[in-house]
Amino acid sequence: MSATRNLLDTSVDLGDATASYRGDQFRRYLDAETIQTRVGEMGQQISEDYPDTTPILVSVLNGAFMFTADLMRAIHTECEIDFIKLSSYGAEKVSSGDVQELKSVDAPLADRDIIIVEDIVDTGLTMDFMKERFQAYNPSSLRVATLLHKPTATEPDLQLDYVGFRIPDLFVIGYGLDYAQLGRNHADIYILDE
Ligand code: 5GP
Repeated sequence: MSATRNLLDTSVDLGDATASYRGDQFRRYLDAETIQTRVGEMGQQISEDYPDTTPILVSVLNGAFMFTADLMRAIHTECEIDFIKLSSYGAEKVSSGDVQELKSVDAPLADRDIIIVEDIVDTGLTMDFMKERFQAYNPSSLRVATLLHKPTATEPDLQLDYVGFRIPDLFVIGYGLDYAQLGRNHADIYILDE
C-alpha cells in the first residue's frame, strides 16, 4: 500500500482560495485531485486485501458520505454498504467526547468483514466507541478506513488500518465535513486559518 500522505510538516500552498463560515476564515488545504488520487489508492488497497470475501463498509454519517461514495467506487471487488449515525460536534469546533448512536446499522454483522469508514479521526473517542460497538457483533474482522487523521490529538493506542492523510490538529471542512452543517459541498478540503 502506498504510505499515508503525511502533511504534518508540509506547507501546502494552493494559492489564495478561501472560504468563510460563521465569521471564521478557512483556506484551501487539499485540492480535489489530490483527494481523489489518494482515495483511489485506498480503494485499490482494500480490493487487494479482500480478494475472496465481501466486506461491508459501514459509513459514519453525515461527514463520511462523500468519502464513502468515492472509496466504494474505487473498490474493484465485491463489497456492501451500510450506515451508522452518531452525535456530532453540533456547531462547535472541538469534540465534546460524549458519543451517542442516533442510527444503527441495519445489516446483520456477525461473521462479516467490517470496514468502518470515517471522514476524520481527531481525539479517537468516536472511533473507540464504534470499534467496541462493532466487536460486540462478533465480526470475522474489523478494520477502519479514515480519510483524515490528526495524530497529535489522538490517543496513541488506537489502530487505524487505512489512513488517507495525516494532518495538523486544526479544524477542517469540505468534502463532506461541515462547520455547523455548512461547507460539506466543497470538493476540496479547507483548513481553519488561524
Ligand atoms: P473524535 O471523536 O475523533 O474527536 O471526533 C470524530 C468526529 O468529530 C468526526 O467524525 C467528525 O465528525 C468530527 N470532527 C473531528 N475533527 C473535525 C474537523 O476538523 N472538522 C470537522 N468538520 N469535523 C471534525
